[in-house]
Amino acid sequence: MVITGPAMHEAHQYRKNDDGTVTCSLCNHRCSIKAGRHGICGVRKNEQGTLFAETYGKISAEAIDPIEKKPLYHYLPGTLSYSLGGIGCNFHCEHCQNWHISRANPEEARLRDLAPEEGVHRAIAGKCASIAWTYNEPTIWHEYALDMGTLARSKGLGTIYVTNGYITEEALRELSPMLGAFRVDLKAFNEEFYKKVCGAHLAPVLDSVILARELGMHIETVTLVIPGLNDDREELKGLIRWVIEHLGPATPMHFTAFHPDYKMMDRGATPIAALEKIYKSAKDLGLKYPYIGNVFNNPYENTYCPACGTTLIERYGFSSRFVGLDDRQCRNCGEQIEIVRHVS
Ligand code: SF4
Repeated sequence: MVITGPAMHEAHQYRKNDDGTVTCSLCNHRCSIKAGRHGICGVRKNEQGTLFAETYGKISAEAIDPIEKKPLYHYLPGTLSYSLGGIGCNFHCEHCQNWHISRANPEEARLRDLAPEEGVHRAIAGKCASIAWTYNEPTIWHEYALDMGTLARSKGLGTIYVTNGYITEEALRELSPMLGAFRVDLKAFNEEFYKKVCGAHLAPVLDSVILARELGMHIETVTLVIPGLNDDREELKGLIRWVIEHLGPATPMHFTAFHPDYKMMDRGATPIAALEKIYKSAKDLGLKYPYIGNVFNNPYENTYCPACGTTLIERYGFSSRFVGLDDRQCRNCGEQIEIVRHVS
């Protein structure tokens, strides 16, 4: 019999093999893990032929954030989101801005216990409208997010993954009854980038976003525009066209400024003018709600009515002012705006 401590929680989404290895099917690495070893994410461990989620109920970070910080502009805008982070990641991005937790390991990291019930209680006590699993990759926190999220939904809270989208179909289907919003990074429209910079592949990410939409989740995408790496205008236009075709023209897309970090200190920040050009291209291609981000006080952070151009939501930093929106309707022309104001 395997003796486990209270933190040891058997994983979902894996298969036991005759030779004592296990095959994890939570993300598209589909790691084959020998006894005593971890998968690529560093937080799922094979103990004598059983896969354990080592960080179940263990948090590294906790905050009450404006939801705009995720960034999410069309899901419960103007509300607070109870935000949690753990450790580990299934990507190894050279420009990671949260590397101190994404690269931490369970033995050395300073983690605190937080039961799912207590998380939901804190979200409600903090007057939050949602819970966000964020800061590091939530896919690898699957069982914990699932338990907390199921409870959160029963209490009327929204639920958010801030994710790289490398989750498998089977894991995403398991999450779907509880997951309201899938805030996904589309890091580049380029397999080479995913392979070299993230240690992953592009196609499974695109597949998971399409599935998340089919499953009824609210989708917003974020592309961190890195000079010389993924900022080719034609490539970005290809990405925008793909989103319009597969996710619809009302999908909010955020194009955010890169700042040198972690192992990627060899290039400067993204010029604002470059982001503004991408915004204009996206509008020309027919995207209704492009945004730019990681910038200071720029009009392209606001939401405009796609029919008449009226300013609906003004943003300054992470705060929002509803200047032209009545619930989900443009106050000027009556256009219905694709925005989630309440969770059902
Ligand atoms: S979650 Fe992904 S990286 Fe982690 S063990 Fe499973 S397949 Fe490997």
